[in-house]
Amino acid sequence: IMQNALHRVPFRHCRLMLCAQILRRSYSSDIRNIGILAHIDAGKTTTTERMLYYAGKTRSLGEVHRGNTVTDYLTQERERGITICSSAVTFGWNGKRINLLDTPGHIDFTMEVEQSLHAVDGVIVVLDGTAGVEAQTVTVWTQADKHKLPRLVFVNKMDRPDADFDRCVQDLRNKLETTPVCLQYPTKSIEGQLSIYDVITLEHLSWQQGDLGRSYKQSKLETAELSVELQEKRNELIDQLSGHDDELAEVVISTESFDKVSNELIMQALRRATCQQKVVPVLLGSAYKNIGIQRLMDAVNSYLPAPAERNQIYECFGNEFAGKVFKIVHDKQRGALTLVRLLSGELKRGMRLICSRGQAETVTKIYEPLADEYREVSAVQTGDVAICAGLKTTVTGDLLSSSHASLKNAQKRLLKSRNSNTNTAEDEDLDDELFTIEPQIPDAVYFCSIEPPSISAQTAMEHALSQLRREDPSLRVSYDAVTGQTVLGGMGELHMDIIKSRMLSEYKIDVDLGPLQIAYKETIEAPALTTLSVEKEIAGSKQNASLTLELVNDQSELFSLAKTPENVQHLNALRPRLIQVLRKGALSALERGPRVGGQVVDTQILLHNATIARGTADSFVMATAAQCVQKLLSMTGTRLLEPIMALEIVAPNEHTSGILADLSRRRALIKDVMPKGDRNKLIVVNAPLAELSGYSSALRTISSGTANMTMQPCGFAEMNSSDELIAVRRAQGLE
Ligand code: GDP
Ligand code: MG
Repeated sequence: IMQNALHRVPFRHCRLMLCAQILRRSYSSDIRNIGILAHIDAGKTTTTERMLYYAGKTRSLGEVHRGNTVTDYLTQERERGITICSSAVTFGWNGKRINLLDTPGHIDFTMEVEQSLHAVDGVIVVLDGTAGVEAQTVTVWTQADKHKLPRLVFVNKMDRPDADFDRCVQDLRNKLETTPVCLQYPTKSIEGQLSIYDVITLEHLSWQQGDLGRSYKQSKLETAELSVELQEKRNELIDQLSGHDDELAEVVISTESFDKVSNELIMQALRRATCQQKVVPVLLGSAYKNIGIQRLMDAVNSYLPAPAERNQIYECFGNEFAGKVFKIVHDKQRGALTLVRLLSGELKRGMRLICSRGQAETVTKIYEPLADEYREVSAVQTGDVAICAGLKTTVTGDLLSSSHASLKNAQKRLLKSRNSNTNTAEDEDLDDELFTIEPQIPDAVYFCSIEPPSISAQTAMEHALSQLRREDPSLRVSYDAVTGQTVLGGMGELHMDIIKSRMLSEYKIDVDLGPLQIAYKETIEAPALTTLSVEKEIAGSKQNASLTLELVNDQSELFSLAKTPENVQHLNALRPRLIQVLRKGALSALERGPRVGGQVVDTQILLHNATIARGTADSFVMATAAQCVQKLLSMTGTRLLEPIMALEIVAPNEHTSGILADLSRRRALIKDVMPKGDRNKLIVVNAPLAELSGYSSALRTISSGTANMTMQPCGFAEMNSSDELIAVRRAQGLE
């Protein structure tokens, strides 16, 4: 007799009441902050949507292709069917509160992924069951490695006939060099309907479709043969796990049998091994067909860590409040909202906070996150995520604390514990990131001009841009005094397009973007030294400044005093405020190089001498300093530096030679070609951005659609003179 236990998710209203209780209680051990990462199209958004639905947070199921999902809530995302904002959503599940951060999959938004990884304690990596480990999967996996995040893998799209679970598991082992442990196996009925075998409980799980997968059946296996087969898998799992967990190993040895090991023991061992990143549990299902999602949510509760089990470095704050800003979103009614991950202490409404750059601000309201819906709360505890209103100057990446003293003390305690512990360099990098004043923002690789529809809209446009910049520091906004245009710098075409459509939909300003251009930088050809004296009469008062400045190739400092034996006395006598004025003026001239207007880098300005007549205005001194640097730049001349992209391409062996030949025509530097499994190669190259326009479609053609690729900016490099000439002519619009 088959023993069926029907699992029903409670009636929606009961569920909500239950959630409310959980949300109010929310001890840190009951919280899971989880990121969800994947290659684009693997099914992240669809999976998130299902979780919200089964947790009772939404009334109906959203679908990506219908454009009504909760997490892809920006209009542009809906239109494009991709996820751009890592919006946060919160839901209760079996007594735990899960904060889930959806992350963008496109390379134009890698900064957002980085920031959201600061805020989570574990991640779900979604694989497309028909594609296995793809290029972007490798990228996000590496990012999760850097943040030392425990993870679960969900093999999605297992409903498709071409899905291959075993291949995915092999991919995890080979391409990601990890230790997957399979908690489930797929099976299909004659009609092709997917269901799941659970290795730990030895049950068959099947989902009803009448209620959109809200209920599922757990039953004993149909035949003895199947039972034996699954029992073997269970034994393998125990065997594998006991290799990573001593407690389990001892039980196995003392009972001398796998059969006597209880489910609880396996789950406990699995939790330890997962949290210590020794193994990665693998689950499967089909988000689109509503299969397997509840078990994935159970696994988040069971195997991924609570906040207190990670982030030990934040203990330096004691019980005082500390929080990391991982995202700023714009809400039509509430204005800018700051998403904060609480690292320690409590955050209350009305609290005054300081950010790492020193400004003090007051939190006027706190909400809990449900994508584009918010519910007000009065306080939020350690480990949780809060949405704060009222913070006007914080930017993504800021560390918030309750006072300067608290921040200083924390830093001191951290240093002390560092001296007593033997930390790795990697740990220290993470610590440093915690206390850095400015978050690391990637350099813009493209720029374009942006024009308001009319001159009267200029101010509104500037205001809107400054709001957008707080949300997304990788957007650069500058003003070009020569052309009189506002200039946007960013990560790619999609990035700029999104800005344009958000300007229209959120701020009602229909801006025009100029053609997209590559953001070259410039550096000086050789050192140069000059003296510039300027004299002028402005409104009856005599202005006079004489400056001696030098430019040298140096990456360490931008501006310093050349205290040679002859200069030292004179320079020591200069007032600090005057030096600040000189510095500001001189540095402003590095913003626009003489060659193509690119930022001048790797160049240091040395001040040798400054003689300023009494009564000379600061603005005059500043202008003279800028003029002097400009003079030096045109005297010595500059060379261009071009943005370089790091590419990783995975392609079948038979296509690699074609791909490599094409890459060498694109001035690519081939760094490595190594085997990936039996049939594929991984090609690692650096190539100039200028040669990569339309590359993804070119790659598709060369490889007949079989190659995968990721691309990310990796700095700037000098170019040879003939390439440089082409670039200059292009930048001037001559080619
Ligand atoms: P994301 O880019 O990772 O957020 O992926 P989406 O959730 O937007 O899904 C990409 C596409 O795959 C959409 O058209 C989904 O309807 C489809 N999809 C997602 N999950 C499944 C699944 O389990 N099975 C099938 N057959 N299609 C799916
Ligand atoms: Mg998505």
